[in-house]
Amino acid sequence: MKPFILTDLDDCLFGTRRKVPEDQSEGLTLASRLIDGSPSGYFTRRQKHMLESLFELGTVIPVTARSLDAFRRVDIAWRAEAVCAHGGLVVAADGQIDRDWLAQVRAVQSASALDVTSAYALLEAEIGEAAGYRHWIVDEPIEGESPLTLYIVVKHEAREEAALAPLGRAMRAALGDGWAIHLNGNNLAIMPRWLGKRSAVRFLLDRIRTDHPHAPVIGMGDSHSDIGFLSECDYMMTPSRGQIAESIRQVELDAAA
Ligand SMILES: [Mg+2]
Repeated sequence: MKPFILTDLDDCLFGTRRKVPEDQSEGLTLASRLIDGSPSGYFTRRQKHMLESLFELGTVIPVTARSLDAFRRVDIAWRAEAVCAHGGLVVAADGQIDRDWLAQVRAVQSASALDVTSAYALLEAEIGEAAGYRHWIVDEPIEGESPLTLYIVVKHEAREEAALAPLGRAMRAALGDGWAIHLNGNNLAIMPRWLGKRSAVRFLLDRIRTDHPHAPVIGMGDSHSDIGFLSECDYMMTPSRGQIAESIRQVELDAAA
C-alpha cells in the first residue's frame, strides 16, 4: 500500500534564488515562473531528487497557498488532486475546480460574521498614512460564477518580518478570534478562520481514507500555517531550514535553558 504525500510547495520542494544555500547553487533548474514568464523558483539538485523520490514513493498531492494561476506556473507534472489558495480551492488531476468543495467554502463564507472586504477596511484604517506597505485582497476567479474572495496579503518594502509584525498584532486585536494572522518573511496573510489548508485537506482525506483506509499519509510543510494540515496526516515532514524547524529547535533550546 503506497502512501499519499501531501506537500506544500514553496520552500519545501523549491525556493527563490535568494534562499538557495551557497553550497548548492550549482545545477539549479527552473521550478516556477512569475506572471510575466520570468523565473521565480528553482530546484537545487537535492530538491529535484527529493521530488523524484516522492513521486516514486506514492501519490503526491500539492497543498499550497498559491492561487490556481500561480500553481499552474509551477513546472511539475502533477498526477493527482491539488489544494490551492490556502485551501480555498481543490482542483482535480485534470485541472477542473472541485465544485463540491467550492460549494462548501461558499456556504461557510456566507455564514461568517465579518467578511474579507470589511476586514480590509479595518486594515486600511490601521495603516493610515504609514508608508512602505502594499496590500490587496486575494480572490479566485471562478468560471461562470462570481469570484471567490479569500483573504488579505500585506507586504512591506523593508522585506522583513519585523516591519510587518506590529501591524499583524494590531490586526489580531482588531479582528478577534474569527481570523488567523500568519507572518512568514515579507508576507502577512490575514485570513478568516474558515479558510485554511487544514479544512481542504480534511475534505480530501475523507475521500482518500474511504477508498484507501490503510494507506499512510505523510504531510510536508515548512511554515506555521502548514501545521494544521500536517496534523491531519499520519506523519509530518519538514525541511530543516524553515519556520517549523526553527520552532522545533527552540523547543530544544528551551529545554536546555
Ligand atoms: Mg512553504
